Amino acid sequence: GNEAQKAKYLPLIASGAIITSFALTEPDVGSDSGSVKTRAELDGDAYVLNGSKRYITNADKADLFTVMARTGGPGPKGVTAFLVPRDLPGLSVGKPERKMGQQGAHVCDVNFDNVRVPVENRLGAEGDGFKVAMRVLDRGRLHISAVCVGAAERLIADSIAYAKNRQQFGKPIAEFQLIQAMIADSVAECKAAKALVLQTARAKDRGERITEDCACAKLIASEMVGRVADRAVQIFGGAGYIADYGIERFYRDVRLFRIYEGTSEIQRTIIAREALRSEG
Ligand SMILES: Cc1cc2nc3c(=O)[nH]c(=O)nc-3n(C[C@H](O)[C@H](O)[C@H](O)COP(=O)(O)OP(=O)(O)OC[C@H]3O[C@@H](n4cnc5c(N)ncnc54)[C@H](O)[C@@H]3O)c2cc1C
Repeated sequence: GNEAQKAKYLPLIASGAIITSFALTEPDVGSDSGSVKTRAELDGDAYVLNGSKRYITNADKADLFTVMARTGGPGPKGVTAFLVPRDLPGLSVGKPERKMGQQGAHVCDVNFDNVRVPVENRLGAEGDGFKVAMRVLDRGRLHISAVCVGAAERLIADSIAYAKNRQQFGKPIAEFQLIQAMIADSVAECKAAKALVLQTARAKDRGERITEDCACAKLIASEMVGRVADRAVQIFGGAGYIADYGIERFYRDVRLFRIYEGTSEIQRTIIAREALRSEG
């Protein structure tokens, strides 16, 4: 954003006075995010937005949306980013979707029917939207990787506590080597993911280009926490399947990390693209 946009919105966002949402995905456009169809046509002092966004986190609570819309021709270079206040006429938000987990955050459709967005709400230049989105996603992927490590550490702590306490065959199940192997695999994989997340965060702090590292961290950490959650269910046995113990909630919640902000398949395509570009 420019200085005027920062001065207007950042204090409100930082203080929690307003909640924001990031609106890229559409009914027909997911992984191929450079193909967004929502249109923004310049008309005097405003862009007129028409189209729909899908699965937008916090849409029902958001006061301000970052919206990717097409101002130019096909492909990523025709996409522009806009700051769109919720109260503009023609903007409507659908009902929260019913979903597998992460019940603390709602996702909804956001619809634009001739929404007039003032020119000063454009983020960057026309055609820069995809670049803006990719920068946001680099940071977002690193954030999600850290969340995955945090969830895994909690699952490991709960698994160890349960294994020490739960008795079968006259002794704590923690004394069985098959249980120990599950704990060992989870601890080792979690530490490896954590090291990668911290290394990438340090590179970000140094101002380095971190697209490949963020994709690696997101892929490794989100796949890791899926395996750790699965083992935690196994260590808890039947209790792992019962809601009161909380493990089944983690199992459902962490599944999303392999899907949003770019699926595991998309992370692999980014890693391969960056690696092939830089090597040789
Ligand atoms: C709970 C939730 C919250 C979300 N929050 C937001 C949000 O706040 N803002 C937002 O903009 N979006 C959000 N999303 C959307 C999310 O980012 C997309 O769902 C995700 O990027 C995948 O897109 P898709 O669902 O259209 O799947 P598709 O792109 O249709 O993918 C389907 C399958 O095909 C695979 N695939 C696609 N392309 C390729 C390829 N080139 N090579 C190999 N495999 C491929 C995918 O990996 C996947 O396995 C959210 C989604 C969910 C479920």
